[in-house]
Amino acid sequence: MTLIQSRSPQNPDDIVEERVPVTPEHVQVLAGRVRAAQLTWRRQDPSSRAAALRGAADRLRTRADEATALIVREVGKPAMEARAEVSRAAAILDYYAQSCFAPTGELLAPTLPANQPGLLFTERRPRGVAGLVTPWNFPLAIPVWKAAPALAAGNGVLLKPSPSALACGNLVQQLFDGLLPANLLHVVPGGADTGQAVIQAADVASFTGSESVGRKVVAAATQGGLPVQAEMGGQNAAVVLPDADPATTAIMLAGAAMGYAGQKCTATRRIIVVGDAAVFTEALVAAVAALRVGDPTNVDVVVGPVITEAARHRVLDAVTAARAAGGRVLTNDIATRDGFYVAPTLLDSVDPGHSVACEETFGPVATIFAVPNVRAAASLANSVRFGLVTSVHGRDIGRLFELTKAIDTGLIRVNAPTTGVDFHAPFGGEKASSHGPREQGTAALDFYTSLHTVTFATPPLTSAEEAS
Ligand code: NAD
Repeated sequence: MTLIQSRSPQNPDDIVEERVPVTPEHVQVLAGRVRAAQLTWRRQDPSSRAAALRGAADRLRTRADEATALIVREVGKPAMEARAEVSRAAAILDYYAQSCFAPTGELLAPTLPANQPGLLFTERRPRGVAGLVTPWNFPLAIPVWKAAPALAAGNGVLLKPSPSALACGNLVQQLFDGLLPANLLHVVPGGADTGQAVIQAADVASFTGSESVGRKVVAAATQGGLPVQAEMGGQNAAVVLPDADPATTAIMLAGAAMGYAGQKCTATRRIIVVGDAAVFTEALVAAVAALRVGDPTNVDVVVGPVITEAARHRVLDAVTAARAAGGRVLTNDIATRDGFYVAPTLLDSVDPGHSVACEETFGPVATIFAVPNVRAAASLANSVRFGLVTSVHGRDIGRLFELTKAIDTGLIRVNAPTTGVDFHAPFGGEKASSHGPREQGTAALDFYTSLHTVTFATPPLTSAEEAS
């Protein structure tokens, strides 16, 4: 059996984890065990479900330094961001622990005969086994923001982490070990075959990753009749209005575009400046040049390596193709270093229809465009197939509001970077970025449950009962 390995992107000789992939046949066996354990879990009272999730949060906080170091080592996330991811994952566990006490339905007015008093109510019930397939870039937060609501709602979990984040996947298993009933949650390392088997074995499926894989997951889940959600790529725009402060906005956008080497689905990839772009472009070039690039273990570093050598080539090829088509690189290259580094790269003079401005490069590359007015800005922002997030920057409330209304992405952030995520709010995109219901917040509890409508009437009262 071929082993799968995760390697540290800043030090590719460092093999972080090696695992035998879980075979599709064994995924079926584990799914059976999860399903059996779930029958007990779903009947447990909310206090004990909450205690398990809170216990996992406490355990993660106790192990925060170790978890932070693991994320940095395994996926090259800069230390400051890795620490924030650990804190966020713990907060998500707490949030969903509390959600165990949330109402499980609503009471409606019954339409029953006068001699049959009763109730009409809805009841959310767990779906069974949640099949979760996750990417490497938020190797702790994404598995947790899917598993925690699934468990809180009374489901069992089969989680397939990315082969590039195997050790972080183990950590997720360890957070819950001994706190949940045996076999309720299994982390199953593997590649595409294992992921497909997880979807086939599940009762509800949640995927985050690339668009191409997401489409396959959605097709397989739909064919199997499963409720499915898929969060996929983005080609996110930031619109800069003429009254935005160039310096502070540039700092915000430099971080949103280049932080973590642009490896966030929410990273800013297109910067659309309304009016003359010269002053803002200069400020942005300076803000990007000020970002510290290098070893992600260093707390001052904002831009670490990209995940693999193949990713590095993909990003460099995209820049080469843009240049060949007339694009201009505005930033300086960085000295070559070990590890999979790519210099943060700002482009202009790119045709908006060029693939670097339409498809997801998933690296530290962003393109600046100038447009004459707000309408043209909205039209360009909306012109791509993706629709995850857009940010808008300026002061004039009327214009900000007009743009907010015109933007078609699932998330819209005014004077805030595209990269922020609130775990207690619905998260998801439009068009090719997402499929199915939103995740996070209470939307996740809805997704991992099915809604049942119950009419509960007494037997018809006899005339004697009615008379008494
Ligand atoms: P990926 O699509 O390559 O892999 C994601 C997961 O799917 C991995 O666990 C992988 O092993 C598994 N997989 C691969 N083939 C499969 C198949 N045929 N069936 C089932 N599972 C399969 O993505 P990645 O490289 O790990 O992550 C980067 C991508 O994730 C980017 O496109 C990024 O935009 C996206 N992403 C999106 C969001 C969001 O919320 N929209 C968040 C983070 C990352």
